[in-house]
This record gives sequence, structure tokens and C-alpha cells, in this order.
Amino acid sequence: MNTPATLSHYIDGQRVSSHSERYGEVYNPATGQVQSLVPFADAAEVKQAVQSAAAALPAWAAKPPAQRARVLFNFRALLLQHMDELAALLSSEHGKTLADAKGSLTRGLEVVEFACGIPQLLKGEYSDSVATQVDSYNLRQPVGVCVGITPFNFPAMVPLWMFPVALACGNTFVLKPSEKVPSLSLRLAELLTEAGLPDGVLNVINGDKVAVDALLADPDVAAVSFVGSTPVGEAIYQTGCAHGKRVQALCGAKNHLVVMPDADLNQTVDAVMGAAYGSAGERCMAISVVVAVGDETADALLAELMPKIKALKIAPYTDPDAEMGPLITPQHLAKVRNYVESGIKEGAQLVVDGREVQVAGHEQGFFLGGCLFDRVTPEMQIYKEEIFGPVLCVLRVENYQQAIDLVNSHEFGNGAAIFTRDGDCARAFTHHAKIGMVGVNVPIPVPVAYHSFGGWKRSLFGDHYMHGMEGVRFYTRLKTVTARWPSGIREGAQFHFKSGSEH
Ligand code: NAD
Repeated sequence: MNTPATLSHYIDGQRVSSHSERYGEVYNPATGQVQSLVPFADAAEVKQAVQSAAAALPAWAAKPPAQRARVLFNFRALLLQHMDELAALLSSEHGKTLADAKGSLTRGLEVVEFACGIPQLLKGEYSDSVATQVDSYNLRQPVGVCVGITPFNFPAMVPLWMFPVALACGNTFVLKPSEKVPSLSLRLAELLTEAGLPDGVLNVINGDKVAVDALLADPDVAAVSFVGSTPVGEAIYQTGCAHGKRVQALCGAKNHLVVMPDADLNQTVDAVMGAAYGSAGERCMAISVVVAVGDETADALLAELMPKIKALKIAPYTDPDAEMGPLITPQHLAKVRNYVESGIKEGAQLVVDGREVQVAGHEQGFFLGGCLFDRVTPEMQIYKEEIFGPVLCVLRVENYQQAIDLVNSHEFGNGAAIFTRDGDCARAFTHHAKIGMVGVNVPIPVPVAYHSFGGWKRSLFGDHYMHGMEGVRFYTRLKTVTARWPSGIREGAQFHFKSGSEH
């Protein structure tokens, strides 16, 4: 076996070796082997990255938005040019199929394209003559040094939700990627340098809680974007706010797909297969719960789903026919398997059991076959908690009202979908679901780059979603200017507070 490579940080426009004595192991989940070691930055290394971003801020913020956009146009071209390389790097650390890796990279690329339009997006409002010879207008100015803390499941797309918009708005950035998939962020930083980004405008610091804590406490950090699990996100939101920072924390999920009796069965089955088992269920918008309205609906759906789940092509990303890859780490595999055991103990019916699946030649990989539970009830742990694996729960209800009540009483509110041909029912669902992103006959309703991504309830802490105009608002501060150019007007001193009409 080869000795694992040791990764670095990216500070001031170059890869920088760490002096840390703490390292994490980065797996190739398909083989189970450790392919590299990632340094866990200490507080001094974090400070170095933040100082680099702080030093780069004034010049970058002062650049006209069109010049900043030009760097992003170059970056876009490089992303396209390096797509195959980036997808292979991503899949080797994450395990997802190459087609899925490219799909997620393309979603990230679309945010870069959105950010290229920054001169238009930063256009403010102007009111002529708010009072006699007084005009008012607003500016959107950068907030300063921004931090991104990202999860393992989208090594490129989630960082790309954040830094293109932040940089376009004139901020500088420190990215702390997931320690399970650190390489993509380092490579994206290199490509940005090649695209013409000045040194220090984007830095990548690898690490764990120690690095995050240092970032949250640093007085030079103005804003924090987090994507990850709910307990960590909630703590980061509270700590970041206590330190006076602007924070957005996008968190965990349990996404329901409601199937009405009139839904197109074939379309629904295809949608459920991709949304529940794509990326081995390791997506914050994965469908992990199907709510079937009526026993007939449930029985028909299960009859179609079961053989398809058993026939899933589970394979390493190097197999072009792979439909589902491995889970991320042995610890996560054990956690998901424990959920399957807990479901059995609690009385749910495991109608497809993927626990015995083996991938020939990859016996040490972290593979788990697709699992399907029928007759799950709301009090079960497998329903209440996010499993983040290829385990789908089916709940049976009698009518639409019971289905929407389930959706609305769950603690998470990221995504939900309804499959139906009934426009009234679909409209009621879109209006009444307490959910941030809703699909109608669309199982994974991830908003495109020029709309904004975010959930409700305990799926998001903070006020702003990511990318689209919400992203521009998060990464800018609003300033309103009221200006008078005197031309002989003299009113004398005014000691009372004037309304606009009095001027
Ligand atoms: P995670 O919360 O374990 O880690 C996310 C980030 O936080 C990583 O960079 C990690 O290093 C850091 N971190 C972990 N523990 C920490 C701690 N105690 N203190 C400070 N920082 C810490 O999440 P994950 O396992 O990498 O990702 C999966 C989770 O992310 C799932 O819950 C999924 O739903 C969620 N997710 C949400 C969205 C969304 O948009 N809502 C998108 C993708 C993933």
C-alpha cells in the first residue's frame, strides 16, 4: 500500500504545509484505504489565514465589480476545462458516482455564472428629490472577511454556493472544508489563483472544531456561512452571533415525498429511486420519507420499488455503470447500519435489506445496499432523525390532511415534494407546507443558482438563504446616502426632526 500523501492549507495564493501535530485520515470510501492525511490547523494557522484575507480586503473591495466579475469569468472557464479532473478527485474522496460528481460541480458552476453578473446585482435604488434638492440612494458594500464551513457531502457545490458570491460582492474569504473531503477546496483555490484572483482573497484552512472555534472568535471575521448537521450548525450560529458576526447556518433534513392516489406511478417510482438512493442518500435534499396516501397507493408503490432497490448497481465511481457508491467513512457506515437495526427493533418492516451487499473486489469499501422500511410510524427513531444513508421509510396515511400534518410537525423543514395530478391539492401543499423548498412532481427541488437555497424550522438558523439575491444580501451591508447639493438655499438651524414633506 502507498504511504498516504499529506495535504496542506492554501494561504496567500499558495499551498502551505501545516506545522500542526494533529491530522485526520481521508479515505477512498470505495476501497476503504486511507489515501491522504489532512492537517488539523491550530489557532496560529487559522490566524495566518484570516490575516491574509484581512490584508487582501481593502484592495479587493475597492475593485470595480466588473473587474471582480472578470476573474470569475476566467474561473468559470477553468472549471469547465478541468471538469473531468475535478469530478475524479471529488469521487475519490467522497465515493459518489462520476456522473453525480459532475452534476454537483455543474450546480456549483451555475453559482459562479450567477456571480459573474455582480455589476447588475449590486445596482442600488435611487430616489430623486426625497426633499427639496435632496436625493437619496443606497450602496451595497462588502461585509469584510467571510468564513465558510462546509460539509462532506458536496465537496465542491457547497463551497461554490458561498465564495463566488462573497468574492463578487467584494469580500475576502476563508474556507474551512470538511476534513473528510479536503482536496477539492484546495484545487478550487488553485484554479482561482490561475484565474487571476489576487493572493489572500481566498484562503483554505483545513481542520476540525479547533479551527472552527478560532474562526468564530476572531475579531477580523465579519460573517460566517455554515452548512452541515443541525447540532453543529446551531452551536456555530449561537457562538458566531455571540461574537457579533453575521451567521447563516444551513442544517439537517428529513425530506418527505407525499404520494397521492392519483400520482403517475411510473414517474413517482423513478423519482423516489433517484432521490432516495442517489449519492447513497447522503444529500440534504435526499428523500428519506415517503408518505403514501392510502394502502392501495402504498402497496402499488412498494411492489414497483422493491425489485428496483434490489437491482441497484452498487459500485465504485470508477465503474461507469455505477448508480450508487459507498458511504463516506466506516463510522458513518456503522451509524447507518445501527439505524437499520433500530428500525427493526422498533417494529418497522424491513422489506428490502441492503446490509449483506458486497461489491466484488471492494470488500473493504464502505458499501451498504439500499434499504426500505414499510409501516414506519412517527414515534420511531428512524423517522424522527436524519439517517443520511440509503434507507427509505414509508409511512402510510389515510388522507392528504394527515400527510401535510406529518410534513409540518417534523422538526426539519428543508425540502418536501408532492406527487399528484390534482392542481388544487398541489397548490394547497405548496402554500401550507412549513418547508423552505417544495417540489410538485419534482422530488429534489433544489433551487437554481439565481434563486436561493434554504430551509425552515431546524434546517436553518439565521435570516438569509444561500446564493441568488439572498446570497448577495448576506454578503453585503446596506448603506443609504441622503445628499443635498446646496445652491443658495439657507433654512437656518432646524432643531426638530423633519419629515420629508417639510424640507
Ligand atoms: P457536520 O456538521 O459533521 O460537519 C460540517 C462542518 O462542521 C465540517 O466542516 C466539520 O469539520 C465542522 N464540524 C463538525 N463538528 C464540529 C464541531 N463540533 N464544532 C465545530 N465544527 C464542527 O456535517 P457533515 O457530516 O459533514 O455533513 C452532513 C450534514 O450536513 C447533514 O446533516 C446534512 O443534512 C447537512 N447538509 C445540509 C445542507 C443544507 O443545505 N441544509 C447541505 C448539505 C449538507
